[in-house]
Amino acid sequence: MAEHESLEFGKADFVLLDNVSMEEFMGNLKLRFEKGRIYSYIGEVVVSVNPYRAMNIYGRDTVEQYKGRELYERPPHLFAIADAAYKAMKRRNKDTCIVISGESGAGKTEASKYIMQYIAAITNPNQRAEVERVKNMLLKSNCVLEAFGNAKTSRNDNSSRFGKYMDINFDFKGDPIGGHINNYLLEKSRVIFQQAGERSFHSFYQLLRGSPDSLLRSLHVKKDPTAYNYIKVGGQIKSSINDGADLKAVADAMKVIGFTGDEVQTVYKILATILHLGNMTFGVDGDVTLIENPKLVSVIRELLSTKEENVEKALLYRTVATGRDVIEKQHTAQEAGYGRDALAKAMYERLFCWIVGRINDVIEVKNYDARVHGKNTVIGVLDIYGFEIFQNNSFEQFCINYCNEKLQQLFIQLVLKQEQEEYQREGIPWKHIDYFNNQIIVDLVEQQHKGIFSVLDEACMNVGKVTDEVFLQGLNGKLGKHAHFTSRKLSPADKTLEFDRDFRIRHYAGDVMYSVVGFIDKNKDTLFQDFKRLLYNSSNPVLKGMWPEGKLSITEVTKRPLTAATLFKNSMIALVENLACKEPYYVRCIKPNDVKSPLLFEQERCRHQADYPRFLQRYKMISEFTWPNHDLPSDQEAVKRLLQGCGFDHDVAYGKTKVFIRTPRTLFSLEEQRTEMV
Ligand code: ADP
Ligand code: MG
Repeated sequence: MAEHESLEFGKADFVLLDNVSMEEFMGNLKLRFEKGRIYSYIGEVVVSVNPYRAMNIYGRDTVEQYKGRELYERPPHLFAIADAAYKAMKRRNKDTCIVISGESGAGKTEASKYIMQYIAAITNPNQRAEVERVKNMLLKSNCVLEAFGNAKTSRNDNSSRFGKYMDINFDFKGDPIGGHINNYLLEKSRVIFQQAGERSFHSFYQLLRGSPDSLLRSLHVKKDPTAYNYIKVGGQIKSSINDGADLKAVADAMKVIGFTGDEVQTVYKILATILHLGNMTFGVDGDVTLIENPKLVSVIRELLSTKEENVEKALLYRTVATGRDVIEKQHTAQEAGYGRDALAKAMYERLFCWIVGRINDVIEVKNYDARVHGKNTVIGVLDIYGFEIFQNNSFEQFCINYCNEKLQQLFIQLVLKQEQEEYQREGIPWKHIDYFNNQIIVDLVEQQHKGIFSVLDEACMNVGKVTDEVFLQGLNGKLGKHAHFTSRKLSPADKTLEFDRDFRIRHYAGDVMYSVVGFIDKNKDTLFQDFKRLLYNSSNPVLKGMWPEGKLSITEVTKRPLTAATLFKNSMIALVENLACKEPYYVRCIKPNDVKSPLLFEQERCRHQADYPRFLQRYKMISEFTWPNHDLPSDQEAVKRLLQGCGFDHDVAYGKTKVFIRTPRTLFSLEEQRTEMV
C-alpha cells in the first residue's frame, strides 16, 4: 500500500479493492489514469497505463524518492520495481529479471528504457570511468537497435519488430560492468512489404532523409523514399518521426559504441543495396530470364564489392548438385523475384544480428575474476512482443503467441506455484487459486513428434510435395483429438472457420485462427547458396564476415539448416530457462483505449502478506501492546495481540513466519490507522 496518496486517486494497489470484479478493477484503473496516476500495483506486479503524453515523473528528484526505499513506501512507479530488483540483487546476491509484457503500443519499450535509466542513475556513486563507459554503451545501444529493429505500424509509431532480452551485469559493489543482448525473431517480411498505413524499418528513411548529398550519391540513391518499391508499399512515408535528425543520433551512437568508419559505411551500403534490389524487375526473352534494369546490377556490384557477372548470375541461376554433377539451373522470372526478395530479407536480418553482435562485443564483461571481485550478479530486462490477434494470422503470429504461452507458463511456475507452496509451507489452509495451467498449449506447439512445430518441420522435409496443405493434413492427422486445436476439416460445422486452410488454437488469452498459407516457406526460410557465396566472396571484409557459410560450395553443403520454427523454439526454451533461475519482477503495460482479457488473470490475487518482523515494524505504532516495543515471547504473538486489539483477528491467518490478511479492507484500515499515527 502506497503512502502519500489519498483516495481521490483511486487505490494504488488493486489488492486493496473491496470487490475484485473486473468492473471495479477497470473503474479504479480509469480513475487513477484520469488523475494522472499511470502506475498501480497488483501485489508486486506494476501495472502501467500508457499516458501517451510526456510525464514529469522520471527526473532526478523522482529517482531520489525511490532510491533504496521499500516497494510500498512510495506511490507505485516503475522505479520502485527497478529498485526492488536492484536491492534483491545487491543485498541478497540474487540474479533478478524484470519481465515486461503487454500488447503492441502499451509502453513496454519505454518502460524498459526508464528502468535502465533508473539503474544507471542510482549506480556508480564514485564515478568510476569504466562503469560510466559501460552505462553509456548500454543506454546508447537502444538508439541503434530501435533504428534497425523498429518501424511505424498502425498501432505504434515506434513499434519494436523484434524481441529483446538484455542482461546487465553488476560487480560486487552493485555497479554495472557489462551486459548482453539477445534478440528474437525480427519481422523481416517488413523489409519487402508493409500493410497500408505502415512503414518499413526506420533505418531506410533515416538514411535517405538524413544523409548528406555526397553520401546519397555514392550509394546511388535518391532522397525521396517513394522512389523505392520496398519501402513505399505502406504509403506512410510521412510520420511524426524526424528521420533526418534520428540518423545523426544513430550515427553518433554507433560511433560511441565503437563501430568503425568502414563498418558504418558497409551498413549504409547494405541498406542501399536492399533499396535497389526492390526496384529490380525480371522479364523473359524466349526461354531466357533477364534483368530488366541492368544498370542496377552495376550499382549493386559496386556497393557489395563483388563481380558484376556474379551478381547477375546469382539472381538468375541456381547451382544444383545432382549426384556428382553440378548444374546451373535458370530461374523463371517468378523464381528470380522470389530469390531477390529472399536476398533482401536475409541481408537485412543478418545485418541486424550482426549489429547486435557488435554491440555485445563491446558491452560484454571482460576480465572479471569472481575469486577477486566476488559474484557477478545480473538483472535481466525482457521487452518482448505481446500476444497478437490480427485479421490474418500467419507464422509470425504463431511464433509470437507461442512465446507468450511460454512466458505465461513461466509466470505460473514462478509466481502462482510459489505462492501456493508458500501457503502450504506456512501451514495455512487457504483456498487454492484456481488458474488455468497452459502447459497443455505449450506442449501442443513444442512437443517432440506430435507438436505443431514438429509436424511443420516434417512437412518441410517431405520429398516431392511440400505444400502448406500437406502441413495442414499432418496437423489434422496428429492433433485431431486435441482440446485446444481444431480446423475446418475437424469441425466442419464450425462457421467461424471460414477457409479450408485455417486452423484454430485455443490460447490461454483467447482463440486465434491461423492461416497455413506461407507456413512452409517461412519455416524453410531458404536463401539460395548462390547468394551466400556471392556475399562471402565480397572484397569488403565487413560484408564477407557477415556471411561465413558462403564459404561452402554447393557440393559441400550437406547439412540442412535448422528451420525457423526450430531455431525459434530453441531460443524460447533457452530464454525461459534463463529467466526461471532468476527472481522475477513483473511489469504489465496496458493500452488505455483497448483494454482486454490479460487482466482477468490477476483477479484472484486478492491478498496481502507480510512476515512478522516486517509487519510489526510497519504497524506497531497502532497498538499499545506493541508500541514502542513489545514484551511478548515472539513477534508472532505480538502481531496476534495487535490484530486482536483492532478487531481484525477473524480476518487473518497466522502462518509460521507470516501473517496472511484475507480482505483488503483490513489492510487498508491498518494503513489508515498507521497514517493517523505517523
Ligand atoms: P510497446 O513497446 O509496448 O509497443 P512503446 O513503449 O513503444 O510500446 O510505446 C508506444 C508509444 O507510447 C511511445 O512511443 C510513446 O509515445 C508512448 N509512451 C509509452 N510509454 C510512455 C510513458 N511512460 N510516457 C509517455 N509516453 C509513453
Ligand atoms: Mg516495443
